[in-house]
Amino acid sequence: MSEAKRRGKVAVMRLFSILGRFAGSAGYAILLYHSIDPEEKLYSTDPALFRAQMAFLKGQGYVVSSLRPLYRHIQSGTPIPEKTVFLTFDDGLQNNYDQAYKILSAFGYTATVFLVTGKVGASTDWYHRDSKGMLPNFRILSWLEIEEMSAGGMDFQPHSHNHPFLTRLDPKTMRQEILTSKKVLEDRIQQPALVFCHPYGDANNATESVVKECGFIGSIANEMGKFRVGDDPFKIKRMDCDKMLLTHPAEAVLAVDLCLQGTYPSFIRFKRGLAKLGLADKRFEEIDIEESMHERGFPT
Ligand SMILES: [Zn+2]
Repeated sequence: MSEAKRRGKVAVMRLFSILGRFAGSAGYAILLYHSIDPEEKLYSTDPALFRAQMAFLKGQGYVVSSLRPLYRHIQSGTPIPEKTVFLTFDDGLQNNYDQAYKILSAFGYTATVFLVTGKVGASTDWYHRDSKGMLPNFRILSWLEIEEMSAGGMDFQPHSHNHPFLTRLDPKTMRQEILTSKKVLEDRIQQPALVFCHPYGDANNATESVVKECGFIGSIANEMGKFRVGDDPFKIKRMDCDKMLLTHPAEAVLAVDLCLQGTYPSFIRFKRGLAKLGLADKRFEEIDIEESMHERGFPT
């Protein structure tokens, strides 16, 4: 990206940040990441930029945490500390251990990792299949790494057993995907599986009923936004700030700031609009937020 374009992007992000401060926004930001690696592509965050984001949150006085305080809030109404930011990682990529876990540990932070239990120790073979070759295969964490991270305070929750589109499965297979991932995870790390994360955010009434029957206290679908007290715990919103094609610490910090201000979803829609007009990186055009995740098959 040219220096002029980068400055333009930062200026627009600053504008959305100011708008957010002006409008005010209640609730808690739940950030979503996938890969922590140095490639500039969708669903990747450069380790140095991730570190800059964590340093920014620390400087702003935020408590950065796994979803555990959210579980306590859902289960017993325990208030969530005011300046909490939740971190989540989907798919359990190996670089969550090599990169993210090391950085988080240095800050004393924890995060929740949503694991595809049937793929542990293998690779994200569904990325290649579903993204039409746009994304490479990544190695997935091993159980040894997961156990070490779990002992170090990281939280692991299920993201199905094989990462299918759950709403396309017959009821029996759909139930197996949800329940197997819960059982496998609980057997291995001896912690309760409490919140289920739908692959691709692909959820409907039938999947939600099964998630409830299986004993989960909440689930993540694919709507973007902040979690507000009183929200339906089976439709928890997040913001995937690794969709922003970040290349510079100033952008990385602003991306997190937009999530805190609640204007991140509007910013992404704005960039998509520009991309459609040929005025922003074409890859933004590929970012479908709620409408056609099914068709695109991105690895949410
Ligand atoms: Zn996923």
